[in-house]
Amino acid sequence: MDSAQAHSVVIAGGGPVGAATALSLAGRGYAVTLVDRAHPRPGPSAFGMDIRNVALSPRSATLLRQIDSWPEQAAAYTKMCVWEERGTSRLAFDAAGAQRSELGWLVEVAPLLAKLWQRLEEHSNITLAFGSVTDVVTTDQSVVLRLDQGGEMTTLDTDFLIASDGAKSAVRNALNVSVRQWPTGQMAMTTVVRTERPHDATAWQRFLLDGPLALLPSMEPHLCSIVWSQSEQQATQRLTLSDSEFCSVLTRASEACLGNIQEAAPRQAFPLNQQLAAAANPHRRVLLLGDALRVVHPLAGLGVNLGFEDLHELLTIAKPNVDLGRLGLWDKFARQRLLRSEIMLRSLDGLKRLYGNPDPWVGWLRNAGVGWFGRRQWLQRKAIEEATGLRYLSG
Ligand SMILES: Cc1cc2nc3c(=O)[nH]c(=O)nc-3n(C[C@H](O)[C@H](O)[C@H](O)COP(=O)(O)OP(=O)(O)OC[C@H]3O[C@@H](n4cnc5c(N)ncnc54)[C@H](O)[C@@H]3O)c2cc1C
Repeated sequence: MDSAQAHSVVIAGGGPVGAATALSLAGRGYAVTLVDRAHPRPGPSAFGMDIRNVALSPRSATLLRQIDSWPEQAAAYTKMCVWEERGTSRLAFDAAGAQRSELGWLVEVAPLLAKLWQRLEEHSNITLAFGSVTDVVTTDQSVVLRLDQGGEMTTLDTDFLIASDGAKSAVRNALNVSVRQWPTGQMAMTTVVRTERPHDATAWQRFLLDGPLALLPSMEPHLCSIVWSQSEQQATQRLTLSDSEFCSVLTRASEACLGNIQEAAPRQAFPLNQQLAAAANPHRRVLLLGDALRVVHPLAGLGVNLGFEDLHELLTIAKPNVDLGRLGLWDKFARQRLLRSEIMLRSLDGLKRLYGNPDPWVGWLRNAGVGWFGRRQWLQRKAIEEATGLRYLSG
């Protein structure tokens, strides 16, 4: 056993962020235990694809490829088209403008998790433990996790704990880390639809007064996943529509950008909140990553990408043989991740407010701004670099 393996790490939560963190640290020689309630289960599917999809940036793709976990079901998108309900200007981004062959990929969550978990099971430095985290006790020397394993309580001792147990993080709660919330007053409605015209590898997003509607390309040219943020009232009403009524509503809401919506899979809707934990490193031996640290509005498809960005930054510190619990080791990391999260949360909140403002003067300013932006190639290139993580790839 080399000296790095003397440092044990427990990762609570085997979602995309926790699983990728486990594989990355195990690859550097750390003895990793990954805890989750159960193996990931396939979510609802329709037309042969998972309804849950995430847009992954080139930077996230690089990270997943480094741990040999890139799923085969990944649909590259090469263009983005953004416009609004009352606007006259639209923004079009093209991969060629950033000298790339794609802007990112739409990835189905089930095959992504299946691939990550296959790698977790194969890795000799990783132990899987099943149970629900119920409590965490920290000392200067170690961390103890309490797990509920089907009614039987057990404990896990470790040198270092990484919490990637999602928005309702039990670790965060056990350590009394407070959370600031920005309620959006919106729900996200998700489904998969068949469209009359092919999506042309383009991510379409229309800002409606009530919230943004995204039609995201899949590997099949006529299938798109839908993420439609809207008021609770609208979501509740739209859930009761028949499939054909919903297709008509969606055709109108998308301005028939892909022709008629011909078929829709069952719809799901859940409340949208933005939130940020008060600390990313609440104890010298504990870090929060991914949704356990912050939850962002899905309008920019950034959630998992920010979690992978946490991991990317973590790996600049967690080199082989580093004692991860060393006092002060994570101070700068924690400050930077909180600042980055705060900036993203405020930007997305601002964007949502800007596009949701019915004032005609604000509408005029928005249109003028979008038109101005649309004529500035260099600014668009910067925006693409930021949104796709290219800025970090080159930095
Ligand atoms: C509608 C919608 C669309 C989205 N689209 C995108 C997108 O296009 N691009 C993007 O990047 N992001 C997107 N996101 C966000 C993305 O889904 C999340 O950011 C991402 O899932 C967070 O990953 P995670 O690994 O941090 O947490 P999670 O995926 O929530 O995983 C947490 C894990 O912890 C486990 N766990 C929880 N509690 C416990 C416990 N007490 N004990 C043990 N285990 C526990 C869970 O079982 C789970 O496996 C979207 C979100 C929504 C709502």
